[in-house]
Amino acid sequence: MILKDNKTKIIATYGPACESEEVFENMIKNGVDVFRFNFSHGDYEFHLRGFQKVKDFNKKYGTHIAILADLQGPKIRVGEVENGSIILESGLQILVTNQKQISTIDKLYVSYDRLGQDVNIGEDILVDDGKIKLQVLSILDDKTIKVIVLEGGELKSKKGVNFPHTKTTIESLTKKDRQDLEFAINNRANWIALSFVRKAEDILEVKKVFGEAWLHLKVISKIEKPEAIENIDSIIEVSDGIMVARGDLAIEVPLERVPLLQKEIVKKCNKLGKPVIVATQMMESMTERSFPTRAEISDVANAVLDGADALMLSGETSVGLFPVKVIETMSKIIEQVETNSDIYNTMSYVSDIDNADFIPDAVCHSAVTLAEDLNAKAIIGITRSGYTGFRVSSFRPKSKIYIFSDNKPLLYTMSLIWGVKGFYYEGFEGTDQTIKDVIQILKDNNLVKKNDLVINTASMPFNEKSKTNTVKVTVVT
Ligand code: PGA
Ligand code: MN
Repeated sequence: MILKDNKTKIIATYGPACESEEVFENMIKNGVDVFRFNFSHGDYEFHLRGFQKVKDFNKKYGTHIAILADLQGPKIRVGEVENGSIILESGLQILVTNQKQISTIDKLYVSYDRLGQDVNIGEDILVDDGKIKLQVLSILDDKTIKVIVLEGGELKSKKGVNFPHTKTTIESLTKKDRQDLEFAINNRANWIALSFVRKAEDILEVKKVFGEAWLHLKVISKIEKPEAIENIDSIIEVSDGIMVARGDLAIEVPLERVPLLQKEIVKKCNKLGKPVIVATQMMESMTERSFPTRAEISDVANAVLDGADALMLSGETSVGLFPVKVIETMSKIIEQVETNSDIYNTMSYVSDIDNADFIPDAVCHSAVTLAEDLNAKAIIGITRSGYTGFRVSSFRPKSKIYIFSDNKPLLYTMSLIWGVKGFYYEGFEGTDQTIKDVIQILKDNNLVKKNDLVINTASMPFNEKSKTNTVKVTVVT
């Protein structure tokens, strides 16, 4: 089946709006590469139905659409509020407690066990995307604090609460996250995203708890806390991917910092060959309208120019009125930007011989420059770990990237990686035969044709399955 082949990938959040068979299939045909299941919403039954839809589609069409399970993390919320909605007037002094109760205009419940221990006088508390702003006046005890409403407004049940100044000591993987993680593993998700990551240990803990099961599962750190910005280098190092989670980030740090943070984080990830996602409100207005704002068109284009591997849609596809149209529109913008050479080979590569991967890194880089010099149609890699795929992609070649592997889960993982298309291959007879085989597969799929120049990477001797150490130019016969 022919799917869109933009290099920049699209992640669509799955939700009630994607449930009909027709909508779901059309979303994929118009460019979805990965479905994100947001474990902040929906029950297991709902998620399971969605997982199954993705698997059925892949089976039917031989595609590798991936499943990303997004764990809620230590998200703090208000509970139910009186009559579903209360008005908090500016200037009002009220109590905030972590003892479960229906919230009233005198006393607000927040799901934060260590409230009294963690917060300090003078710190801000932001409710409902920062629409309501509170400031801590005094700490009454472990469970209760007194605040003043600095910016008031209407408050509805279950809204999120952010403590941007507070060094929160909440565990990074909540009990709910552990259950959700187990569900995601048992139902073969391909990527896990962890919300509100603060330090590298948060990711290491996730990987440790689930040990062997993690061999195929890749972990994305969502960057949405000031502490994550402080620890960004060590977080990127231990993560398999990064999400610039602009929704909470713009509440947790001064919002004007977000555009440059996006560029800096994307650049760091590109340099290390780590996939990076730009997320939230990319096409927000299309939740309710059939076309985007001018600002959204530019935001999508600029994220591509920044070097994002993938762009993510949230409410636009999960509950929006135009789940297919929004994908179609985003694909068109991406496609247009990808005709501009500014997104290709933007990185200056300097070999670092202290890095354990400096040989495969240099080989992958050579493959990309060679492809450039020869105007090659494709770079074709063969890999078990996927490293060649991630690395070749990180140099942003103009040619197509086709990666062959006998590691099935990897083919799904790579759906999130810029420019990479994965194929199953298990021959491994020897280099010559394998190169012939994989080119034949591409010919059969009408992806290369006679007289095309392609670049193959491989590891020789072939059966040792060591790291990539060979680049070969092949003319398709
Ligand atoms: P969320 O994460 O949608 O799970 O909150 C993304 C973001 O905060 O931008
Ligand atoms: Mn978030």
